[in-house]
Amino acid sequence: MNAVVDLRLNTVRATEVVRFRNETGAPLAQLVFQVDANRQAGVFSLIYLAVADDGAPLSYELTGPRLVVELPEALGVNCTVGMRLDFVLAPMPIPTTGFRGRSDHLGFSERQLNLGRWFPTLTAHRPGEGWLLHDAYGVGEHYVLPMADFNIEVSVEGADGALVAGPGNVLQVDDDTWRFSMARARDMAFSISTRARVLSGQTQSGVMVEVYYFDEFAEGDGDAAAQQTLSTAVAALDRYHALYGPMLYDRAVVVASDFPDGMEFSGLVFVSTNYFRGYNGSPSGWLTLITAHELSHQWWYAMVGNDQALDPWLDEALATYSELLFIEAAHPDLVNWWWGFRVRSYNPQGTLGQPIYEYQSLRQYINVNYLLGVLMVHDMRGILGDAGFVAWMRAYAEANTGAVARPDDLWAALPAGTDMEAVARVWEQYGIGP
Ligand SMILES: [Zn+2]
Repeated sequence: MNAVVDLRLNTVRATEVVRFRNETGAPLAQLVFQVDANRQAGVFSLIYLAVADDGAPLSYELTGPRLVVELPEALGVNCTVGMRLDFVLAPMPIPTTGFRGRSDHLGFSERQLNLGRWFPTLTAHRPGEGWLLHDAYGVGEHYVLPMADFNIEVSVEGADGALVAGPGNVLQVDDDTWRFSMARARDMAFSISTRARVLSGQTQSGVMVEVYYFDEFAEGDGDAAAQQTLSTAVAALDRYHALYGPMLYDRAVVVASDFPDGMEFSGLVFVSTNYFRGYNGSPSGWLTLITAHELSHQWWYAMVGNDQALDPWLDEALATYSELLFIEAAHPDLVNWWWGFRVRSYNPQGTLGQPIYEYQSLRQYINVNYLLGVLMVHDMRGILGDAGFVAWMRAYAEANTGAVARPDDLWAALPAGTDMEAVARVWEQYGIGP
């Protein structure tokens, strides 16, 4: 893909070429893309869609975030098709007051343009079920993303001194152009700013870590919040590597973002500037927890995918529990604080296993999928012991790298000799299990 970003207008025009090999085991008459940018009217415009090699036009239907492309003839098993899509994006400003939606990762503030879920990507396909693309909803995420290899060139117009934060291997071609490439990713997200600064470091295993942040955090007590984010990122990535095995990428990017909470993408995570501003010098706060949380999604999202709409707890319970595993190693004096601040104070109740559409509020969704999920994972660790628990996580990661995993895959990775009667009681208690 070639993308030209106009920072005066906060717009993007792009030419995307998609090559898809049909490994589904059956001929395909249609390809289904998710176009999350088209959830809101006026943001995404498809200019051109054709077969890449001969320019033959393709008929399609674009309805909200769903783009269904009719192939001129059925795509045979192990055959490849190429498509070219030209599109223009006009992201909305990030709301500064009132309710904020779940598409804030595609938007701009007065100092930053964030491009998350910004281009059409094929959705996952499962033999027997077809293309997996669920409806968007106000709570949680709804994506089912297959792995792909990405090459994206980003050129910036209309501003001098822009920095482009992006994942994977990066080559700056000239003052305004960067080339990013990434194999085995679920997506590629970017953040562009003329006011960002960057801090960098490295993990023990050689992963380059970069933190993009703003000048406001470099006043007063120096760039303490950014330093804390960097040291948390390095320590968390080392911890997860030791527990789960190596992550898939050589670089990890953390971007301070002008929207709430955080959001994970392959090789790049957003952590809200609210948390940077709220940093008070102590690791016992949201900046440290959310940084550790989002980076754990490099395992539980990027490496091991899942159906975000139907099995939202599958990655979020593990990501939130990863916060504890990081705290245990990096800040053992804060373990009790973490349980109280992060989990117990919300008194999580109910059962896991519901799709996102069952939740009426973000708080309720988080209480169940993140916090009740933590209690379930902790019970499992109690059954397995620490060594058995780590063996379980590592086996799950290894067996499902690149896949869209389901709860059954998590249980299938349990070590031999596990007390399955105790596990069955956990399934019963939390409303999950095969
Ligand atoms: Zn998460």
